[in-house]
Amino acid sequence: KKITIAIDGHSSTGKSTVAKRLAKELGYVYVDTGAMYRAVTLYMMRKVFVSKDNFNKEAILRHLPFVDLEFKLNEETGNADMYMEGENVENEIRYMEVSEQVSRVSAIPEVRKKLVEEQQEMGKEKGVVMDGRDIGTVVFPDAELKIFMTASTEKRAQRRYDELKERGEDVSYEEVEKNVKKRDYLDSTREDSPLVKAEDAIEFDNSNMDLEEQFDKILKIVKD
Ligand code: C5P
Repeated sequence: KKITIAIDGHSSTGKSTVAKRLAKELGYVYVDTGAMYRAVTLYMMRKVFVSKDNFNKEAILRHLPFVDLEFKLNEETGNADMYMEGENVENEIRYMEVSEQVSRVSAIPEVRKKLVEEQQEMGKEKGVVMDGRDIGTVVFPDAELKIFMTASTEKRAQRRYDELKERGEDVSYEEVEKNVKKRDYLDSTREDSPLVKAEDAIEFDNSNMDLEEQFDKILKIVKD
């Protein structure tokens, strides 16, 4: 019987890597909700409503209903890529500039409402692995399996740094660590759906586990 799997946690805990693999193994759909918040942020940055020195909430709210998001399968990688207004933005939404602004945009209740509704629609069929910050608490409070991933700040920053370097981004480790800490703080202290562990979520610290080990453990939980 197909179930709903919610994976939440702080930035760069390796949620998406595990979630993606789990979905492939089980033949489930994987939904990266962070990509949706990132795409809305990129949209607002392009419209110049959001930048380092600018945050025009009124303009964001005015344009929000028109932001058109869609996941489309990438035949080459077998993963779903994020499309915004018909454009593949899978790479661009991971840029540091977007990471710097995303937690501000995702703190806006109207942004959350729109995306949560879209996520609930995508997951209404079961057989879904969804990762984010509020999946087990807000999007699918009735999910059959909830995992809350944690890892030390240093481990997370290091992973994120390696990832960005691999993609050829020109960043320093210090910059990445600062961004990870800042997002942790903003995501955990915002008023609307702050990042908290759902009471019935299984906490999973992967600071000292490699991907295989994590995956095996979680798969065992799923099969039990
Ligand atoms: O998962 P990822 O790190 O790509 O998410 C980027 C940002 O999007 C988070 O730091 C958070 O501000 C926001 N987010 C959120 N709720 C989710 C997923 C992501 O607020 N369910």
